[in-house]
Amino acid sequence: MNIRSFFPLLSQTIDGKPLVYLDNAATSQKPQVVIDTVNELHTSLNGNIHRGVHRMAEQCTARYEAARESVRGYINAAKAHEVIFTAGTTAGINLVAFAFGERYVKAGDEILVTEMEHHSNIVPWQLLCERKGATLKVLPFAHSGELRMDMLPALISKKTKLIAVAHVSNVLGVVNPVDEISRAAHALGVPVLVDGAQGVPHGPVDVQQMDCDFYAFSGHKIYGPTGIGALYAKEKYLNEMPPYQGGGDMIKSVTFAKTTYADLPYKFEAGTANYIGAIGLGAAIEFFKSLNVNDIQLHEEKLLRCATDRLQSIGGLTIYGNTPRKSGIVSFAFKNIHHLDLAQVLDKQGIAVRSGTLCAEPVMQRYGLTGMVRASFACYNTLDEVHALAEGLERAKSILS
Ligand code: PMP
Repeated sequence: MNIRSFFPLLSQTIDGKPLVYLDNAATSQKPQVVIDTVNELHTSLNGNIHRGVHRMAEQCTARYEAARESVRGYINAAKAHEVIFTAGTTAGINLVAFAFGERYVKAGDEILVTEMEHHSNIVPWQLLCERKGATLKVLPFAHSGELRMDMLPALISKKTKLIAVAHVSNVLGVVNPVDEISRAAHALGVPVLVDGAQGVPHGPVDVQQMDCDFYAFSGHKIYGPTGIGALYAKEKYLNEMPPYQGGGDMIKSVTFAKTTYADLPYKFEAGTANYIGAIGLGAAIEFFKSLNVNDIQLHEEKLLRCATDRLQSIGGLTIYGNTPRKSGIVSFAFKNIHHLDLAQVLDKQGIAVRSGTLCAEPVMQRYGLTGMVRASFACYNTLDEVHALAEGLERAKSILS
């Protein structure tokens, strides 16, 4: 099976050179079935969900709920109503920071994040802390990129209201021990939110085994459309938290005296949902599941190993994130070459990578850098592309140094 043939965008050239797309941690490309699903809905089956009784409205509603079931199965949530459709990871984390914060956080409390978080899993908690007079605490990581789990017990206290941690770091690629964090947190009655943006694209996730209380991810990083994602939350929290936004579809009844809210999950899905995006996400998940996911995981590990071997033999290049458990990401910097210049020279060779602070400035500060270059892999990347990256970097180095 040639996986690349499912992704029409990949066959294009950039300035006459074959596209080598290695910016998958920023966003992944879409298989034809996702493009066709979204097109089909826009061309022949579009009716607003949960409202109309006409045929198209009913069919869209059924397909929207089927997409929720696809997400539920993929992350192994116990109940479909524990899956809330959101605009993406950022939206899911902000939902929790607001609604959980309103219900449980007061002045003097603490929220614990890690030093390797994406800005999306830092700033919403800072905003919450500012609103409530709470304090943000930070669990550091070692030079290798491993979280300092030895420091965790001292950072969890009676004041800790929630721990927020990335499943996989978008810079270092390290897979964090989220189940161990959940166990330690739950022993003290503290819930855990996992930022799954970089966890979900590389294989099914089991939120019950992880025993996290919240898990947020984005559809566009797992071969789905942009503007759609999902938040898993344990039913207990969804019942106890107030709504995040008010509007149509999230209510049972409205009077000027009192409004009552809809049952889960609709209480947290105010307004017209991005149902076309959600159905596209469902198609993406079903597509991904139809590939042999074990084989894909082995293939991506091979790409990562090959990239690590090739890149660490390039003089002057340092890879950040050197732990045994890594997934799909290799980030690096040269001592005397600016990351933006490198990325631009690579682009001229048709190689797309990400450069800059990677939305994780504290990680850059930790290593005393202004930025890095990141290559990130998806199911359709090949060993030839990894070799093209290594050769492209050698060429860029000779041009720029
Ligand atoms: N967290 C992590 C770890 C990420 O990699 C990203 C995307 N770069 C996000 C959060 C934010 O995702 P989105 O922009 O799709 O909301």
